[in-house]
Amino acid sequence: MTEKIVKGGEFLVKELNKKDIFIPEEFSVEQKQIADTARQLVENEISPNIEAIEGHDFELVKKLFSMCGELGLLATDVPEEFGGLELDKVTSMIVAENIAPSGSFSVAFTAHTGIGTLPLVYYGTKAQKDQYLEKLVDGKWVAAYCLTEPNSGSDALSAKATAVLSEDKKYYILNGTKQFITNGGFAKLFTVFAKIDKEHFTAFLVDSDFEGVSLGPEEKKMGIKGSSTCSVILEDAKVPIENLLGEKGRGHKIAFNILNIGRLKLGASVTGAGKAAIGESIKYAKDRKQFGTSICNFGAIKEKFANMVGDIFASESLVYRLAGDLDVNFDTLDKSSTDYYADYEKVFEDFSVECAISKVFCSEALSRVVDEGVQIYGGYGFIQEYPAEKHYRDERINRLFEGTNEINRLVITGGILKKSLKGELPLQAEAMKAFEGLMSPSLDEVDPSVPFEKEKYLIHNLKQILLILAGAAAQKFMDKLQHEQEILISAADVIILIYAIESAVSRAEKAYEAAGDKKKQLLLAVVEVFTFNALESLSKAAKQAAFYIEEGDNLLMILSGIRRYTKYAPVSLLNSKRLLADSIIESEAYLF
Ligand SMILES: Cc1cc2nc3c(=O)[nH]c(=O)nc-3n(C[C@H](O)[C@H](O)[C@H](O)COP(=O)(O)OP(=O)(O)OC[C@H]3O[C@@H](n4cnc5c(N)ncnc54)[C@H](O)[C@@H]3O)c2cc1C
Repeated sequence: MTEKIVKGGEFLVKELNKKDIFIPEEFSVEQKQIADTARQLVENEISPNIEAIEGHDFELVKKLFSMCGELGLLATDVPEEFGGLELDKVTSMIVAENIAPSGSFSVAFTAHTGIGTLPLVYYGTKAQKDQYLEKLVDGKWVAAYCLTEPNSGSDALSAKATAVLSEDKKYYILNGTKQFITNGGFAKLFTVFAKIDKEHFTAFLVDSDFEGVSLGPEEKKMGIKGSSTCSVILEDAKVPIENLLGEKGRGHKIAFNILNIGRLKLGASVTGAGKAAIGESIKYAKDRKQFGTSICNFGAIKEKFANMVGDIFASESLVYRLAGDLDVNFDTLDKSSTDYYADYEKVFEDFSVECAISKVFCSEALSRVVDEGVQIYGGYGFIQEYPAEKHYRDERINRLFEGTNEINRLVITGGILKKSLKGELPLQAEAMKAFEGLMSPSLDEVDPSVPFEKEKYLIHNLKQILLILAGAAAQKFMDKLQHEQEILISAADVIILIYAIESAVSRAEKAYEAAGDKKKQLLLAVVEVFTFNALESLSKAAKQAAFYIEEGDNLLMILSGIRRYTKYAPVSLLNSKRLLADSIIESEAYLF
């Protein structure tokens, strides 16, 4: 466990002490057991049935849900009172990560346990939970979340679905169409968002058997073909008034907070998918011979493996850091209080920036991993019979749902600006200090022989870059900054990469203490490889933002600051890559 309560967004203005990060090396015995349970279910029951699942055998999918229920895998976030296990967020992420190699089933699973079940857990009344929760926990019922409509996707609050109280005041009559609903084809419980009297955005618990509820045809998709995606049509659907979820007119709170959790979980899930893709690519590269040798012996292939491991190490470090931070915050809440879930919601809101970072960074890390996966398979990577093709297609959706990555990038910069305006983050004061730092003649010296010292100093410097850019942009555009999307998106990239580098470095630094000699070397290597790669992307985003914001002497000053603050000498880069690659080739799996 970590020692300190970390607050959302403060990573930009504070140094992270390694004591204050939760790392996967600290998983408890119980957490490792639940990981094994999920892994075995995938290996023994799901993977052998992948073809049937991809062919939309939804009866089989429902049976697998029941199995998950029997094993307790649907219960992690549900209170014991309603048949759940009420485990911490770290454990919930462990389950999501280990179910992920099941591909389409994982999408169904994550939608059910996350956006499907959690609205009821967090916002339901006792009577609503008594009525529905146990069925969701034991897998007899599957849940779905219905926010999107044909004409309202990213702009979710412009939804047109309506709810009107019936004359006898016993029902809300719902009308509208919900688009692209995961699990739609076989879900029994839908959380549906509609506007009461065309005005008050509100959530409702809708049973698929309610009069007036029907489904559109299954969508034919690019990937995750085994998951069900269809529209849910409401034609004078009769929803009992007791099924209004939360408060009238507060549906947006439910919709957006549940998406925060979904974004964190998506990070965990794509990390698991990345590990699976790496494992398969290694086995293939060892088997495949060209020019008289296994292709895994070529430097060009080894380099890909090293970069893939770097990306997944960072994703994993980031997801568990965030889950750990949430857990220590949740631990301070009074479970017996009637405000427990209201306080819970505030914690998630506080970390909405980090949740969006998890979604964007991890989904894009996976996109790089599966792309290289196809390349390692060569022409066979393009052929359906081989797993790389499926990984490649299945990956694409992660950058689209749970808020597109553009929307999430805007959530990141928007969230930071909001915290600054509310006085929760001293961004302006820190930006002024960072500008003063630009005038100082030189950088401090760091001792390169101390493990991770140069990376820690780099992280400190990268935060100066963000502060300088934020200060310059705020000064130039003031309250119009929110309309300068190109700047906001570039700044978001800087923020995302700072969080990712810091997560990877701090995790490695903490794990280093207890590691044996070999693992120590691997930790140093993975940090060097990932930091170098991420720094290249960060430098580009920072320079781009500078060109968008400034001109003349100011621009030159900021650019020279960026040059100075991105100085990093990965002196063992080639050796680090070769060490990582040789080690994963030997172990035939992701290393950490
Ligand atoms: C397989 C699948 C499963 C899904 N499952 C569910 C589900 O279970 N429940 C559910 O409610 N929804 C679900 N969705 C819907 C999904 O969340 C939306 O598709 C997504 O939010 C994007 O909305 P859209 O498709 O309407 O795109 P649009 O909102 O039309 O966006 C199109 C493009 O414009 C960009 N854009 C839009 N607005 C802005 C802006 N303000 N600033 C900058 N760029 C912008 C977007 O980033 C994107 O690049 C699913 C979708 C798919 C494909």
